[in-house]
Amino acid sequence: MATDVNEAPLHPPTRVLLGPGPSELDPEVLRALTLPPLGYVDPAMLRIFDELKILLREAFQTTNDFAIALSGTGTAGMQAALCNTIESGDVVVIGTMGYFGERLAAMAERLGAQVTRVDAQWGMPLDADRMRDTIRKLHPRVVGIVHGETSTGVAQNDIADIAAATHEVDALLIVDTVASLGGHPIDIDAAGIDVCYSGSQKALGAPSGMAPLTLNEHAMERVRNRKSPVSSFYLDVPALEKYWYQGQYHHTISAPLIYALRAALLGLHREGCERRWERHRRNFTAFRAGVEAMGLKILAAPEHSLHTVAGVLLPDGVDAGDVRKTLLDDFGIEVATGLGAFRPRMLRVGLMGYGSQPQFVLRLLAALEGVLHARGHAFEAGAGLAAAQRRWQSHENHLCAGRE
Ligand SMILES: *Cc1c(COP(=O)(O)O)cnc(C)c1O
Repeated sequence: MATDVNEAPLHPPTRVLLGPGPSELDPEVLRALTLPPLGYVDPAMLRIFDELKILLREAFQTTNDFAIALSGTGTAGMQAALCNTIESGDVVVIGTMGYFGERLAAMAERLGAQVTRVDAQWGMPLDADRMRDTIRKLHPRVVGIVHGETSTGVAQNDIADIAAATHEVDALLIVDTVASLGGHPIDIDAAGIDVCYSGSQKALGAPSGMAPLTLNEHAMERVRNRKSPVSSFYLDVPALEKYWYQGQYHHTISAPLIYALRAALLGLHREGCERRWERHRRNFTAFRAGVEAMGLKILAAPEHSLHTVAGVLLPDGVDAGDVRKTLLDDFGIEVATGLGAFRPRMLRVGLMGYGSQPQFVLRLLAALEGVLHARGHAFEAGAGLAAAQRRWQSHENHLCAGRE
């Protein structure tokens, strides 16, 4: 029995969301959340589905027919990709270069797959040659990798070679783009990706709760010809296809989340993928210049860096949990600590979607300078801000802010 119910209207604290998700929202996306709901097979809803398919194909850079948004977070996308393509006993190869690759491997194991991991050192991308050799040796049914590894800020840019080896043995390639889609360059058709999923709340710039998913025709064939039904009723791709393409009830999709995802994807469409990627690259490199001028390092080398999430290594004796708490309490800025062995000495900073703008980079650099100075880490006052400004000024045009 509840006794102390707080009946006051909810006023969550104002935050600047610069962690590895959720990210800042465009006011247009927030507005979409307040529009009145529609029923799950209202013709108006089904028309929005048709628009979303087009917008999702653009975000994924694909001509795949099947492109939908699952009801669930990025992890639901991961679960759907694996549970539709894997049958118990299948041989599966997972490339891991951090926490989310490990999650892929653990999830595949729970589906009864015989999983072999190819590990990269945290901070490095996968070695495509090692992936190829393992794939040729084991002849898996499914290969899974992460495009943007949020735990380390590393991008797997050379996917095409892994895809080629995967297709040599007639396996399917699954790629996680939860933290990269809409922020870091990827062209899933050109790369040869069969199954790709993402999440709404990172670089796509919507609230969490929807997981974009696309399968090419080859992957759809494999799913349709499974020996056993898909273990998850909720994430069953053939049933979801009947819902998204023929309007047959499957589950009660959240209309406000669909509206918000549409608004976020329209923002991506208006900006264009190329400009959007370039904006993320510029703001990330300005941030990198800023933290380096403050005497800090980013874990991933520039050529392997993800442009949406940075792993910032803190000086000896400065604790990431303490820095995170001070940024949140005193500045209202959210960043995350590291994962695994990096937990105490890394800050994970997300500059994604609407959050990838100079105003946010400058706020974080300014706050971080104060926090580091207070902990005895000395450098010239204003050095980080000046270095970031110089980086933006070196570009001849202004692709750094989200809107003109
Ligand atoms: C955040 C993230 C996920 C999980 O997404 P949730 O929305 O938290 O369920 C999976 N993979 C990567 C690479 C991520 O960054």
